[in-house]
Amino acid sequence: MYYDDNTVVYLNGQWLKAQSAKVGLYQQSFHYGNGVFEGIRSYQTPIGPRIWHAEAHYQRLLYSAKTMHISISHSVNELVDLTYQLLEKNQLGDAYIRPLLYTSENMGLQIDDKAHLFLCAWDWGSYFGEKPLHLVTSQYTRPDPESCHVEAKVTGHYANSLLAMKAAKQQGFDDALLLDKNGHVAEATGANVFFQKGDVLLTPKRGHLLPGITRKIVMDLCGSMGISCHEATLSLADALDADAAFLTGTAVEIQGVTSLDGQVFPLSWSESLGSNIHRQFNQQVRAA
Ligand code: PMP
Repeated sequence: MYYDDNTVVYLNGQWLKAQSAKVGLYQQSFHYGNGVFEGIRSYQTPIGPRIWHAEAHYQRLLYSAKTMHISISHSVNELVDLTYQLLEKNQLGDAYIRPLLYTSENMGLQIDDKAHLFLCAWDWGSYFGEKPLHLVTSQYTRPDPESCHVEAKVTGHYANSLLAMKAAKQQGFDDALLLDKNGHVAEATGANVFFQKGDVLLTPKRGHLLPGITRKIVMDLCGSMGISCHEATLSLADALDADAAFLTGTAVEIQGVTSLDGQVFPLSWSESLGSNIHRQFNQQVRAA
């Protein structure tokens, strides 16, 4: 699914067939979770493939690397340029792009700051499929911001997302809603969350979540569409009392949520502000 005999990837300055790209088993990132990565989409537009908010994603990658003391010599512009080359070499228009920075062979706990850069891309349609989602509140909380850099996209942080998603699936739900250590709503396993209450949209404040690039795009879209949208501290009761909800993320894009903890939101997806925003979003990503 991610690659075939013809797929080309970028690894440490070389373009290689995915089949022949190799990493060692003693790589520190593999054992201790100190890799940093991104999830980016490109969309086919009338004037060719466009990497959606490429600069913002690569700025976040460099920020994530800095928090983990991983150094990389590439600039944002060089990374964007390499990514367009990656798309061209694989003849991809609509694609999901995965840049990863990982560290060298080292079984000690001293961060080996020399980064290895891996870039790959594949054709990834809708992450969850078309249907609005059923969420369940997770027994796992989001990582404590005093234990790690929650605004960085670090591979090790995703053990928390994997556990929460597994538990949600085992209970028959599509995804988990995670609270922070104070009991406030934070985000889903790989996406941010918005709630509609009357004519207003609310999304959890920064501090215990990954502040998504799509979250920011949606907040900006609300500004241009005249929709009132605020960051707020939200309790689980606030979330359950909402009229509608949706998730945002690069993989997820904008996806309606039907229910939380088995309680169905009163507004259907098509009646909600989220579906209007979704329509605008779809037009923007494909615009020339
Ligand atoms: N939260 C988490 C935990 C995520 O993994 C993601 C996906 N990167 C998001 C939120 C959404 O971020 P973005 O819109 O930048 O993809």
